[in-house]
Amino acid sequence: MNSLRIEQDQNGIVHLVLDRQGASANLMDEQFAADLAQVVAQLQQMTYCGIIVRSAKSTFFAGGDLGKIAEVTTETGQPFFAMVESIKASMRALETGGKPVVACINGAALGGGWEVALACHHRIAFKHKSVKVGLPEVTLGLLPGGGGIARTVRLFGLKAAMPLLTEGKQFGVEKALKAGLLHELADTEPAMLAQATAFIQANEQVTQPWDMKGYRLPGGNPGSPKMAQMLAVAPAMLKLQTKGVLPAPEAILSAMVEGAQVDFDTACRIESRYFVSLVTGQVAKNLINTFWFQLNDIKAGASRPDGIAATTVTKVGVLGAGMMGAGIAYAAASRGIEVVLKDVSLDCAKKGKGYSETLLAKQLQRGRITADQQREILARIHPSEQVADLGGCELVIEAVFEQRQLKARVTQEAERHLPREAVFASNTSTLPITGLAKASERPSQFIGLHFFSPVDKMPLVEIICGEQTDSATLARAYDFVLQLGKTPIVVNDSRGFFTSRVFGTFTNEGIAMLGEGVSAAAIENAAFLCGFPVGPLAVSDEVSLTLMEKIRNQTIADLADEGIIQPPKAGDATIDRMIELERPGKLAGQGFYDYPPESKKRLWSGLEAQFYRAEAQLPLTEIKDRLLFIMAIETARCYDEQVLTSSRDANIGSIFGIGYPAWTGGALQFINQYGLGRFVARADELAERYGDRFLVPDSLRARADANQQY
Ligand code: NAD
Repeated sequence: MNSLRIEQDQNGIVHLVLDRQGASANLMDEQFAADLAQVVAQLQQMTYCGIIVRSAKSTFFAGGDLGKIAEVTTETGQPFFAMVESIKASMRALETGGKPVVACINGAALGGGWEVALACHHRIAFKHKSVKVGLPEVTLGLLPGGGGIARTVRLFGLKAAMPLLTEGKQFGVEKALKAGLLHELADTEPAMLAQATAFIQANEQVTQPWDMKGYRLPGGNPGSPKMAQMLAVAPAMLKLQTKGVLPAPEAILSAMVEGAQVDFDTACRIESRYFVSLVTGQVAKNLINTFWFQLNDIKAGASRPDGIAATTVTKVGVLGAGMMGAGIAYAAASRGIEVVLKDVSLDCAKKGKGYSETLLAKQLQRGRITADQQREILARIHPSEQVADLGGCELVIEAVFEQRQLKARVTQEAERHLPREAVFASNTSTLPITGLAKASERPSQFIGLHFFSPVDKMPLVEIICGEQTDSATLARAYDFVLQLGKTPIVVNDSRGFFTSRVFGTFTNEGIAMLGEGVSAAAIENAAFLCGFPVGPLAVSDEVSLTLMEKIRNQTIADLADEGIIQPPKAGDATIDRMIELERPGKLAGQGFYDYPPESKKRLWSGLEAQFYRAEAQLPLTEIKDRLLFIMAIETARCYDEQVLTSSRDANIGSIFGIGYPAWTGGALQFINQYGLGRFVARADELAERYGDRFLVPDSLRARADANQQY
C-alpha cells in the first residue's frame, strides 16, 4: 500500500494513517481506491474497538487528483466511474461496520478530504487557522463525488445543504463547529488523539443518523409541501447565479434532490453519474486548467524573472488620493505596509484616507475585523501634501489624473526624495509606459502597475514592462502584488496594454450592434447569458462615454504623431450620438440606461427611437459569438504581438480583470476549447458579415493548421 497504512494501538484502536508516499499531500485516486479496498478487507480479519482516521501530512487530505481528473474523457469515463464507486463502497463499509470511526483533522480537509471525514461518525479538528473544511468542488466545475452530496443532504437537509454544496464555501474550525460540520475541537494534536480515543471507548457501537431506523431527512423530503415549494423555485434561483453556463451547480441540485428520494447507496450512485458527466465535460476542464493550474503557477511566480531574491515592501508612496489612490492605499495598509498618501492638499489626502475609514467601519460592523485591527490599519496611512514625506519609500505608485505632463511632473518631483533603488510605478490605464518612463531619471526602475476599480474587490493587477524596465524592477513589482494578496499578470507595453485593449473591443462591439439597430435589451441579455458580469452598454455607462471619447481622441492624436491614421471604430458614431443627446453615462445620471434615484437602472426607452431597426435583429447566438469572439481575437493579437507572453496570463487576466466568462477558462482557452480550426472558420464568417476586426492574426491560422493549442 502506498497511500495509507493501518496501525493498531495498545487500546485496540486501529489507526488508518493517510500517508501518500513520495507526495506532500494525500490524494484520492486509483491508488487510494485500491489501498482503501485492501484496508477494508484486512479489517474484516481483525479485532478492534474503533478506527481513528488521521493524516501523517501537514494537511489532512487534499482531495481528488485534479491533473488526472482533467484528463478523463468520455472514453475513460466508465473506469473513472468504477474507481469512484469503489472508494465510496470502501468508505461505506467503514461507516456501516458498527465500530466507531473518528476523523482527527490536523490540517485542511477540503473536497475529497472532507468527504472522507463525512464518512466518519465523529469529527474532531485541531484548533488552528490552517485547518479548513468544506466542499469547494463546485468552484472548479465539479461536484463532491465521494459521497459528499449524499451525506451533506442527509446530515443537514436539502435547504441547509444547498449553500454548502453549490457555493463551495470553506470554513475555519470555529465556524465549522458552530455549523455542525465538526463535533469537537482540540487544542493540540496529541489532545485530538486523546479525545478520539475517549469517544471510541465511550461508544462501543455507532451508526450514522441516516442508517438508523426511523431516520427522517431534516427539513422534510422533496415531496413534503414546504420543501416542494422551495424546490419549485430553486432551479430558477440557481440559474440566476449560473446564467445557465455553469453545469456544476445544476448537477449538484439534481443529485441532491434525486438522491434524497432514494436509499443511501442509490443516492451515491446517482451522485457518481453526475460527477462523471461533469468530469468528462469541457467546463470543468476549463476551470481546472485556469483556476487551479494556471492560477497556482502565477502565485508560484511563473512570470517573475528567475534568480532575483524575494523582496517585501515596508513603506509605499501613493500619489493622488482619488478613487484609485485611495483604494491602493487601503490595499497596502491592510497588508501591513506603511503608506504615504499624497495629494495636492492635505484635505484631499485626508479625504482619500476617508475611503479606508468607511471600508473598515463596515468591516468592523460585520465582525470581520477587530477595533484594534481597524486602528492599526488606519494608523499606517499617512495623508500628506509634502512630496518630501516620500523619503524611505521602496515603491511609489502614481494615481494622479490621466495627463501625461502631470504624470511626468509628479514622477520627477518624487524621484528627488526616493532612495536610489526605489521603484516608480504608474497606475495609468491608457498611456504607454515607455513614454511615461521618459520623464524618469531611472527608466529601468519605472513600471506600470495597473489596478482595477474598486481596488479592494478586484483581484488582478496588470504589471506592464516598459522597453527599459529591468528584471529586478519587475521582480519587485511582482512580489509587491503578491504581498497585497492580489494576482499579477505581466504584459509588455502597448496602447491599452492587454486588459484595456481587449475590454475596449467588448464595449465597442456592443455599441456597434446597437448602432446597427439591434435591440439594446437583446445585446445586454446576450452578454448576461454568455456569463459576462455586466452588459457592454451598462459597463460603457459606468466608464462614461465622454471618457471613452477622450481616450479615442488621445489615441488618434498620439498615432498621428507616429504617422498612423486610425480608422474610426464601429461604435464611435453611436458614442458621439449619445454624447450629442447629453446622455454620457451613469455619472451624469443618464446614458444607455436611466438611473432613477429610487429604483434600479433600466434601459433608456429612447434607444429604440434612436437606433432600433426591426430588420437588423440578430439571433442570440450571433450576438453572443460577436462578444466572445471579438475579445478572444484581440487577445490572440496581443499574444501574437508579444504584449502577452503566456496563455496563463491571458486567461487569468481576461477573467479576473475584464470579466471574460469564467466557464470558458479565459479568452485563449475559449479558442482552444472551440477548436482552433472551427474558431478560425467562424471568425472568418463574422469578418465577412461585420468587418475586418474579426480577422484572426496569421499566427492563429498557422496554429490551427498545425493543430497546436494556446
Ligand atoms: P481621480 O480623479 O479620482 O483622482 C486623481 C487624484 O490625483 C485627485 O485626488 C487629484 O487631486 C490628485 N492629484 C492631481 N495632481 C496631483 C499631484 N500633483 N500630486 C498628487 N496628487 C495629485 O482619478 P482616478 O480615477 O483615481 O485615476 C487615477 C489614475 O488611475 C489615472 O491615471 C487613471 O487612468 C488610472 N486608473 C483609473 C481607473 C478607474 O477605474 N478610475 C482604473 C485603473 C487605472
